[in-house]
Amino acid sequence: MDLSHKVIVIMGASSGIGAATARRLAKDNAKLFLAARRLERLDSIKAEFPSVAIETFKADVTDFEQVKAVIDAAQKAYGRVDVLYNNAGIMPTAPLVEGRRDEWQNMLQINIMGVLNGIAAVLPAMAKRQSGHIITTDSVAGHVVGPDSAVYSGTKYAVRAIMDGLRQEQAENSIKTTIISPGSTGTELFNSINDADQKQFAEDFFKNINGLQPDQVASAVEYAIGTADNMSVSEVIVRPTRQS
Ligand code: NDP
Repeated sequence: MDLSHKVIVIMGASSGIGAATARRLAKDNAKLFLAARRLERLDSIKAEFPSVAIETFKADVTDFEQVKAVIDAAQKAYGRVDVLYNNAGIMPTAPLVEGRRDEWQNMLQINIMGVLNGIAAVLPAMAKRQSGHIITTDSVAGHVVGPDSAVYSGTKYAVRAIMDGLRQEQAENSIKTTIISPGSTGTELFNSINDADQKQFAEDFFKNINGLQPDQVASAVEYAIGTADNMSVSEVIVRPTRQS
């Protein structure tokens, strides 16, 4: 796909789905602004594509100023952001009875406020220009609650609600919105689980259902970005075939 005309910001591009998407879009020759906390990971992706315009940023999505600095850099370089992909997330699942309030706080801050910070940083300029596309990684867990993942699911339900509200508010400004809802995917996300039983459960579940590879999810993001201006892919659910 030729995406050389697209200026694309990815928050959470250092591993897993975000890194796979960055690589796929780099092959499409998009102009990329990649952000995450692990800058060295972003720089190694950039090094794989010496002929592609890629800038990397150390940014924490919970800090609005750091998110805005990435958006501002893209605006300064090209006068616009065509696509913001809010992908950063963590999943420290555990039974509620364990009362892991710090983990709940982190999930709320990263999974929900991180997305809102991205929207706040990019939307005013997109609305003014009446053009742009905001994509957010949600989850099958944003559709179905399972035991021991109540808070994670709660953050993903919230994000789906926020994105659908955004869609309705900004339709008249021709802003596209896309919710990407993957099922179990082989990434570093399971490392964010501190409860040993939960971590084992997630790894076994992934193996038993022959889970997705990150690039398979990235292909859905690429599809949504590549559609015509008058066609908005509101949501894509990509499950492993064996995930019920
Ligand atoms: P990874 O752990 O591989 O990737 C998570 C990404 O989020 C990394 O780039 C990480 O970068 C970034 N991130 C986390 N916290 C922050 C932060 N505070 N500031 C900036 N970036 C941050 O997992 P996945 O690729 O699986 O996760 C991507 C998204 O996909 C998440 O939203 C997740 O909830 C969702 N998802 C994943 C599924 C799966 O089974 N893997 C299924 C459904 C949804 P860094 O640590 O360098 O900051």
